[in-house]
Amino acid sequence: MASVTGSLVIAGLGPGAEALVTPEVTAALSAATDVVGYIPYVARVAPRAGLTLHPSDNRVELDRARAALEMAAEGRRVVVVSSGDPGVFAMASAVFEALEAREDWQALDIRVLPGITAMLAAAAAAGAPLGHDFCCINLSDNLKPWEIIESRLRHASKADFAMAFYNPRSASRPEGFTRTLEVLRQECGPDRLITFARAVSTPDQRIVTVTLAEATPDMADMRTVVIVGNSATRRVGRFVYSPRSVR
Ligand code: SAH
Repeated sequence: MASVTGSLVIAGLGPGAEALVTPEVTAALSAATDVVGYIPYVARVAPRAGLTLHPSDNRVELDRARAALEMAAEGRRVVVVSSGDPGVFAMASAVFEALEAREDWQALDIRVLPGITAMLAAAAAAGAPLGHDFCCINLSDNLKPWEIIESRLRHASKADFAMAFYNPRSASRPEGFTRTLEVLRQECGPDRLITFARAVSTPDQRIVTVTLAEATPDMADMRTVVIVGNSATRRVGRFVYSPRSVR
């Protein structure tokens, strides 16, 4: 059986800006012997003596999680990095999935450190579009069929939730977001506000709010989180907000 002296931290690096990395994540990275994660996220960790970086490609989350647990079981101090929060469409679930299969790893010192997730950084940049009840949907159909995505879009719209969408659009599935906008127009009408928040907290940040009638699929890409308001969401000056009460 493997030793259980190592540790595994699953850390969120926030949406991009260094100032939005929490002090406990910075401390965990300073104490790490190994950092594991998707290439662009590992690139955000400064190299130093005694630290081995293990960047890997996207879509290998479970292999990456197993490799990280293996290293922790060997006694290393491993940090798995995600962007934003590690529990939001990211590595924390992949690690626990790997852990389910290996009882001997379950005694390891494992901690999840939260980060500022994209929708919260985006909402703050736009004003307060998530100021009332909201939900959050991953639009990627890599891990679930389109039928489930569409059903959730329709139910959330009917329940008058504000909605935040992650992974809205990629080159490999450009038609999904076109269909998303069609469903939203059907359910929420043409005047509903939609905010496209791209590369939030980085020098490339761009925040654009339009109505659903004005929204086009090319307004989103994989660096964009999309926020659709509820029926009461409105503009005030250059901001957009959802009132605290809906009657
Ligand atoms: N764990 C991450 C989400 C990973 S899924 C988090 O909590 O933020 C990747 C998606 O997150 C992207 O397709 C995009 O929709 C969103 N995203 C991540 N960083 C972002 C940023 N800085 N600005 C806007 N959207 C971002």
